[in-house]
Amino acid sequence: MHIKGRSLSLLIPEEKIKERVKELAKEIEKDLGENFVVVSLLKGSFVFTADLIREFSVPVKVDFMWVSSYGSSQESSGSVRILQDLSMDIKDQKVLLVDDILDTGYTLKKVVEFLREKEPSVLKVCVLLDKKERRKVELKADYVGFEVPDKFLVGYGLDWDEEGRNLRGIYAVD
Ligand code: 5GP
Ligand code: MG
Repeated sequence: MHIKGRSLSLLIPEEKIKERVKELAKEIEKDLGENFVVVSLLKGSFVFTADLIREFSVPVKVDFMWVSSYGSSQESSGSVRILQDLSMDIKDQKVLLVDDILDTGYTLKKVVEFLREKEPSVLKVCVLLDKKERRKVELKADYVGFEVPDKFLVGYGLDWDEEGRNLRGIYAVD
């Protein structure tokens, strides 16, 4: 597999993701019960979110936010901007914030602070991937799919300059 002329190595195959997403959904449902709001960060987490919500056996609502962080295409920076806010009111609602990958932590820290001001009754954070060793700010996700090494990853929603989101597994760019 190639992208932009660089070869890709499979890190997490589709089947393993599927299995883990099921486990995460079970765990989340056990903690949150029913009628929680899934807040998904565009664009990277749309594939993960689509699979995760279909593993819930309880009613949930889904909303999206769009955030961007200044920096190079491969590294986020301290300044995170909210480009598109939620469409629904989450005051007194149980909220599950979903992102593709936790890297430095800048993005999720900012979004968590932003959402807390909206006074949800519960706010939990779920990420598919966690590059733990790269953390710059303190932020711990409540639910983590996989801990991953410090490599640039694509696939399953994650892009490299908008390419690679459609890959079924998660790949490291060599
Ligand atoms: P953080 O703010 O935690 O440094 O970065 C989180 C965001 O950076 C993720 O939502 C994702 O958009 C992007 N990111 C971090 N690492 C990777 C990676 O390995 N691959 C891709 N495609 N995006 C990444
Ligand atoms: Mg992202």
